Amino acid sequence: MSPDEEIPRLFGTNGIRGIPNDDLTVEFSSDVGKAAASYFDSPIIAVGRDTRVSGDMISSAVVSGILSSGTDVVDLGVLPTPALQYYCKVNGIYGIVITASHNPPQFNGIKCVDKDGTELERSREEEIEKVYHYREFKNAAWENIGTYSRASGVIENYISGVLSHVDADSIRGKKLKVAVDTGNGASYFSTPYMLSVLGCSITTLNANPDGKFTSRNSEPKPENLTNLINLMKTGDFDIGIAHDGDADRAVFIDENGNFIDGDKSLTLITKRAARPGEKVVTPISSSDAIDEVCSEIGSELIRTKVGAPIVSRTMIREKALVGGEENGGIIYGRHQYCRDGAMAAALVMDLMAKEGKKISDLIREIPDYTIVRSQVHLKKKWEEIMPSVSKYVQGRKTDETDGIKVIEEYGWALIRPSGTEPIVRVYGQSKDGKKARELNREFVDLIEGIQS
Ligand code: MG
Repeated sequence: MSPDEEIPRLFGTNGIRGIPNDDLTVEFSSDVGKAAASYFDSPIIAVGRDTRVSGDMISSAVVSGILSSGTDVVDLGVLPTPALQYYCKVNGIYGIVITASHNPPQFNGIKCVDKDGTELERSREEEIEKVYHYREFKNAAWENIGTYSRASGVIENYISGVLSHVDADSIRGKKLKVAVDTGNGASYFSTPYMLSVLGCSITTLNANPDGKFTSRNSEPKPENLTNLINLMKTGDFDIGIAHDGDADRAVFIDENGNFIDGDKSLTLITKRAARPGEKVVTPISSSDAIDEVCSEIGSELIRTKVGAPIVSRTMIREKALVGGEENGGIIYGRHQYCRDGAMAAALVMDLMAKEGKKISDLIREIPDYTIVRSQVHLKKKWEEIMPSVSKYVQGRKTDETDGIKVIEEYGWALIRPSGTEPIVRVYGQSKDGKKARELNREFVDLIEGIQS
C-alpha cells in the first residue's frame, strides 16, 4: 500500500458515532479497542460507558479487543464521561468511553481519553486509524492476554475531586433546595450523590438509568426540559440542574422556572472564577458578554473554532483555567481540562452560597445579550454555498475562524456548517433582542435562498 494513501477517518469531532449492529458492530468495536490498545502500548486501559441499551454489548467488545492485545482493563461501569476522564488523569492511564453524549438513544459511540484526562488529540486518533486500517494489531500470546478487573469508589472519588474546588461547607450551610433532571443518563447516581454530600434537599427527575431515554430527549434544551421547568415553576426550589446523556454538560433553571441559556451560565462562571491576568478561552459562537466580563476582570479572552476538544487544547497551551461553550459545557482547568457537568453545577452553587443571592439575581448582574440560534438543512455541500455567502457579505467586517462571522456595531451573525450533520448553524447575537433576531433571519433567509 502506498504511504500516501488516504486512510478512512473513524473518529469525528467527538469520537466515533454510529448505530449499534449497523455501523457499530461487535467486530468493529473489538477492532477499535484492539487498535487503540496496540497504539497506546500501555499496561492498562480504563473503560466506562453511559446508560445506552447497547453499552454492555459495545463495551464488552471493546474490552475483548483490548485484552487480546495484551493490555489489562479496569472497568469503571456506568459513569459520566468527565468521571472517567478524572480517573484517567488521577491514575495516569488511558481510557475509552462508550457514549454518544446527547444523541438519540439508537446511537452509541467510542471515544479515547489521554493519560491526562483530555480527549485524545486528532493526530493520535489518526495513528489509531492507521493501526485499524493496516490491521497492524498487537496480538498477545496466550500467556500474555490481558486481565479484567472492576474499580470501586470511582464516582465518590470524582465527586470529592469536584468538591475540592468549592467551599462545600458554605454550600451545606445554605441547605439549598435543588431539582435535578439527569435525563436517564450517566449522571443518574453521581449528581444526586454530590447534592446529598452538599446537604441539599433534592428532588430528582429521570434519575433511573434508562438507555432508551424514555422520559426526555437527551439534549438539555428548554423544549426537552418542560417537566423540570414546570416543577421549578410550581415548587419551592432554589435552582434546577439538567445534564445531557454523558453529563459533561449542565444547564440551569432559575427559582422562577426560567431556563438559563448556557451562554449566560458560562458568562457567570467566567465572571466569578477567572482571575486578573489569567486567560479565558471560548469559541467564536459564545456571546460578547464574555468579552465584557473579561475586560472588567483584566483577563485576556481567546476565541477558537467551535468544539470542546479545541477549547481544552487551547486552554492547556495558553495556561488558561476557565473556558467553555455556550451549550452548557464548562471547562475548569483547576479541576481538569475537559467539560464537566458536575463541576459546573458545583461552581454555580458555590457562587449562590458565597454571595448569598438567588440564581436569578446573579444572572441579572451579568451583561445581557441575546443569541438566536437556528439550523438550516443543507441540500448542497457547504463548499458550494460558501462562495455565495462570502460574496453577499463583501464589504462587511468578517471573521473566518470557523464558518463566516459577520460583525456589525450592534452585534454579529455566525454561519457555520455542522461537523457531524448536513446542517448549517446560524446565530444572531446582539444586546438588542430584535437586532439579534434580524441578524439570524437575514442569514437563514440567505442560505435558504441560495439553495432554492
Ligand atoms: Mg455530552
